[in-house]
Amino acid sequence: MTMESINPATGERLGEIEPTPTSKIVRLLTEARAAQREWSKLPYSVRGQTLRAFANLLVERKRTVAELISRENGKPLVEAYSSEIFPSLDIVNYYVARTRKILKSRRVKIGIPLLKTKKAFVRYEPYGAVAIISPWNYPLLLPLGQIVPALMAGNAVLFKPSEYTPLVGNLISEFMWEAGVPRSLLTLVQGKGDVGSALISAGPDKVFFTGSTATGKKVAEASAKNATPVSLELGSKDAMIVLEDADIDSVTSGALWGAFMNAGQTCISVERCFVHEKVFDSFIGLLQKKMKELKIGAGTDPDNEIGAIIHRAQYETITTQVNEAVKKGARIVEGGDFFERDGGYFVSPTLMVDVCMDSLLMTEETFGPVLPVIKFRDVAEAVELANASKFGLGASIWTADSKRGLQLARKISAGAVIVNDVVSYYGIADGLVGGVSESGAGRVHGREGILEMVSPKYYEVERAPRMKKLWWFNYDVNTLSFFEIAIDFLFSQKIYKRTSSLFKLAPKLLRMKKL
Ligand code: NAD
Repeated sequence: MTMESINPATGERLGEIEPTPTSKIVRLLTEARAAQREWSKLPYSVRGQTLRAFANLLVERKRTVAELISRENGKPLVEAYSSEIFPSLDIVNYYVARTRKILKSRRVKIGIPLLKTKKAFVRYEPYGAVAIISPWNYPLLLPLGQIVPALMAGNAVLFKPSEYTPLVGNLISEFMWEAGVPRSLLTLVQGKGDVGSALISAGPDKVFFTGSTATGKKVAEASAKNATPVSLELGSKDAMIVLEDADIDSVTSGALWGAFMNAGQTCISVERCFVHEKVFDSFIGLLQKKMKELKIGAGTDPDNEIGAIIHRAQYETITTQVNEAVKKGARIVEGGDFFERDGGYFVSPTLMVDVCMDSLLMTEETFGPVLPVIKFRDVAEAVELANASKFGLGASIWTADSKRGLQLARKISAGAVIVNDVVSYYGIADGLVGGVSESGAGRVHGREGILEMVSPKYYEVERAPRMKKLWWFNYDVNTLSFFEIAIDFLFSQKIYKRTSSLFKLAPKLLRMKKL
């Protein structure tokens, strides 16, 4: 059945997309593997030129790209530039410049003298044809954060964008093909969850999944059926800790942006804020004041700061969580307006206090512009509160003493901890994003991000092939005592044992009749 692309701010139909028939996916995978064999023979410089041509198209047509992102996803135009196009271009620059160096073969250092006749190295080889399944909240940046290193490393990609942002998926693919990426090397697979599921069942060489924790668990289970390696970038409930010495003006602006940009629909947005009791009241007062100035509406109007919620189901998740928290005693200090306007769903930035720790708002991902703020007495309590979550993607600590902030960062259970900033680390191509616990396994960006795209393979050459090995058959009592003495000689911590064994080694060696 045909899928529709809808503007979440207006309900306007933006286009129709034919889903990829699931019956075709195995053939598409075979064609992708054939294309990959040719692509992987090309030098990095040629792959890099193709990706630079792609980046050029993004630069030249940035306005068209930004408008499409804003219309299909609902985010403000400024964010389409600042948090989609900008970091995507940096990712292309980074991997085009660094891939050769990062994936350079590694010479193996052989420690044991008996094995020193060998020469060995590790090569980082592409997996083959990998599946990249993406969500809707950053429809350009998230796929490119994986497609670019996958292609640079020599893989073919089967790319399934979200069913809520299929047109941005089309745009990425068309720009790639126009830049010279062969069609079968980057295969566009459109559709909903059933198509994503069929893609995994077809048996790609690795699955890269970004999306909710609930779907991620299904993806991990489905991948396990073929023992397919999988990378999971999942949901979260990121904590922000505000210490008593933090600058309240800057920390409230950070909280404002970190919690409400992209209408709170960011995997690493601030979803729990813990504030020291000494600065709690001033924090709430100033944040509330700043929240009143935010402008809500369609992202395509350059003045709007809080766009639409992606769809009705997400809007209902947010309302349910807020209502449940209120029932359990929470207070809405600011915002709390939920409304449908011109066919779009909107939630005004909402600040909540007195939130019960077991309410859904504190335990489950909200993915909306709602910020619960909790008071703490000392640092130990703040760490305990921040770590009381099944998720662990990112966190931030705000303090005038960055050394103290970094020490505290080590106690927080998360894939990334930022001192005195929030969210923007996702825009650093050499940074690192990835979660612990139910936020997933695997990393994107940087060196670790491209190492996810390759399978390390060990190569070895024996340079003395005619030499009979001491550990081969036949075994006898001389072989046994040779190894006992050799262990003492090489590894004993006692000097006298090592020196005395040296004199015993040679006669044993001669009696072994292996030389
Ligand atoms: P989702 O899990 O509903 O869907 C993600 C993708 O998976 C979509 O393309 C969807 O069609 C596909 N899919 C659905 N069912 C599938 C199945 N059974 N098998 C294979 N594919 C299937 O997530 P969403 O609503 O699109 O995105 C929001 C979620 O993504 C949030 O939880 C957010 O935190 C998370 N996210 C995480 C990161 C990160 O880096 N950790 C980044 C962005 C978003």
